[in-house]
Amino acid sequence: LRNEVGRMERLSLVGQMAASITHEIRNPMAVIRGFVQLIQERSAKSEKEYFRIIMDELDRANMIISDFLSLAQNRALTMQPSSLHDIINELIPLMSADANMRGQTIEVELCSDAPPLMLNDREIKQLLLNLVRNGMEAMGDSGVLRISTGLLDGAVELRIADEGAGIPAEQMKHLFEPFFTTKTRGTGLGLPLCLSIAERHNGRIDVESKEGEGTTFVVSFNLPEMAGGKPAESA
Ligand code: ADP
Ligand code: MG
Repeated sequence: LRNEVGRMERLSLVGQMAASITHEIRNPMAVIRGFVQLIQERSAKSEKEYFRIIMDELDRANMIISDFLSLAQNRALTMQPSSLHDIINELIPLMSADANMRGQTIEVELCSDAPPLMLNDREIKQLLLNLVRNGMEAMGDSGVLRISTGLLDGAVELRIADEGAGIPAEQMKHLFEPFFTTKTRGTGLGLPLCLSIAERHNGRIDVESKEGEGTTFVVSFNLPEMAGGKPAESA
């Protein structure tokens, strides 16, 4: 209990409210999902589809709650030395399955010399999945989504490039605003969350887009200054 109080004090007021509402909503949702699954297993074939939709929608609601919670809490992350490439490789099967279902393909090109970074793996996965899903959603029922990394100017760059519709210039400035969405089933929380994650990793996100050709999101992670490493050259 003491730990819980200590943690709660560190959260902002919004964060506290988000945390308790999340908890109060998730519990009944878990119960509902459990029973729906039970009924689905016993249901007639013709009705199974309805129960699947109910469960999908429950999962979607849960995801919105998670994203909102991460965004509202905005708390300091625990970081550890970690390989961006390992995180990407771990997610390839999941992302490829998603792409295949949409008739799309994923190409991955990882640079050979990426040093370890200080990362919170869970959050980086969330960032990657959000950007990849946006790319897929922009492409319709074909297209290649390219994930690549590169070492550049003291930073590791992660690029997610799609061949989708592109982003109209007047929408560019709204992309990272919470709840900005152009999708009927969108939440508008994905990109704000990605930005918050990137910033807490001392990184940034840039967007390049051309209407009718596609969009590339570039996440740059600054490399830490190496202690005892090569001395800085004097100008
Ligand atoms: P959501 O995906 O729920 O709409 P996001 O915050 O992830 O919310 O994205 C906000 C909006 O930014 C999207 O609705 C879309 O208009 C635009 N967007 C994001 N990524 C892309 C992309 N890869 N291609 C085209 N538009 C994009
Ligand atoms: Mg999104």
